[in-house]
Amino acid sequence: MSFPSLEQLHTLKPQQQPNYPDPSAVAAVNLELSTRPPLVFAGECDDLRSKLASVARREAFLLQGGDCAETFAGVTAQNVKNKLQVLLAMAVVMQYAAQVPVVKVGRLAGQYAKPRSSDMETRDGVSLPSFRGDAVNGFDFTSDSRIPDPRRLLDVYNASAATLNLTRAFVTGGFADLRTIHNWNTNFVRTSSVVERYEHLADEIERAMAFMITCGIDDDSMRTVDFYASHEALLLEYEHALTRIDSRSQQPYNTSGHFVWIGERTRQLDGAHVELLASVRNPIGVKLGPKVSGAEALALAERLDPDNEPGRLTFITRMGADNVGEALPPIIETIQNAGRTPVWVCDPMHGNTFSTSNGYKTRSFDRIVTELNGWFDVHDQMDSWPGGVHIELTGDDVTECVGGVGELAETDLENRYETACDPRLNRNQSLELAFTVAERLTD
Ligand code: PEP
Ligand code: MN
Repeated sequence: MSFPSLEQLHTLKPQQQPNYPDPSAVAAVNLELSTRPPLVFAGECDDLRSKLASVARREAFLLQGGDCAETFAGVTAQNVKNKLQVLLAMAVVMQYAAQVPVVKVGRLAGQYAKPRSSDMETRDGVSLPSFRGDAVNGFDFTSDSRIPDPRRLLDVYNASAATLNLTRAFVTGGFADLRTIHNWNTNFVRTSSVVERYEHLADEIERAMAFMITCGIDDDSMRTVDFYASHEALLLEYEHALTRIDSRSQQPYNTSGHFVWIGERTRQLDGAHVELLASVRNPIGVKLGPKVSGAEALALAERLDPDNEPGRLTFITRMGADNVGEALPPIIETIQNAGRTPVWVCDPMHGNTFSTSNGYKTRSFDRIVTELNGWFDVHDQMDSWPGGVHIELTGDDVTECVGGVGELAETDLENRYETACDPRLNRNQSLELAFTVAERLTD
């Protein structure tokens, strides 16, 4: 099996690509990247696909989360560790509640490129190209920094390699010990104002673990976890250079991440992103917003997953709290009627963004929970498996989303508003969300 050439992809009018000033520099970077070793391995992608197949069979749940946009400056041991810590802590709570394995996937080690709704950004009467992620141009609002530089793609590769290396070490090197992870949760419950609501669940988990230990269950499964990397496959030069033919199966794999997804703005059926990901064997995702029809979703499923292969395709719906109840059922119905069982994941972040009067892009914890609850309700009504959640979060105590345990107000946002793109849940908000999801999974 082969995959389309870059030239072929460029004839498909790819959306959301940088406007590089020097095409020969782009070609040189692409060539250089194509000689670099793969970041992930085909066998790992196959393992994740079979785990996602168990989600599709109602036997597992997916937790996918991380920054909206990673930054090169954020590639530090502390930052990666904090993110993993909060993701692993969330997964324990959900796994206990759901009584099925939680498949853990980070939005990390490659999440450096952003689609933008506007090509230009205007501040105080000055218009410059929008920031498109560290993979493309600089965050600083100066004309020099906003010029797209293809050499940044090499930095993406290096930053992703370093992040993956740390991640692999953390999740196998003792850091992922179940008892330690659970201690983080009990600390959260004790030090936050949500003691009554979650104490019971946290206590139950503690007792279950103590019981396992007295039984002598103390093997590797208590100390290590499988953890996978994912990002939006946006920049064709990068994604194409890292697409390789696997020597065992002779099949193409995108070796820049285990799971890659197509964003809401680049999922045109005859577009370049769909063409590229249709040709790789990785498990893949597609974001679906409130305007998508059942017929469109079905056409995407047929194109991206022609063999209706379990675990191959994940639909990440991001409808908005007000729309999920109406927009989601017709899509599920069309897909069900076609006999398909993709993984259904809720992204309760991207349909619930708004701007405050003091100019911050934010999201409210309440609205995020409202979309999640609405999404669970729809799946319950339609006898469909709510397969997982996709969250923008960080392990740090930032102030980017309002509400939640700390009751963050709009006036608090200026304290630690650090995101390079969309507002993320902070550590405590993320853990609270995990307990909220857990309540639905226990129903
Ligand atoms: C994102 O996940 O950061 C994103 C841009 O999402 P969407 O494609 O759903 O808008
Ligand atoms: Mn985002």
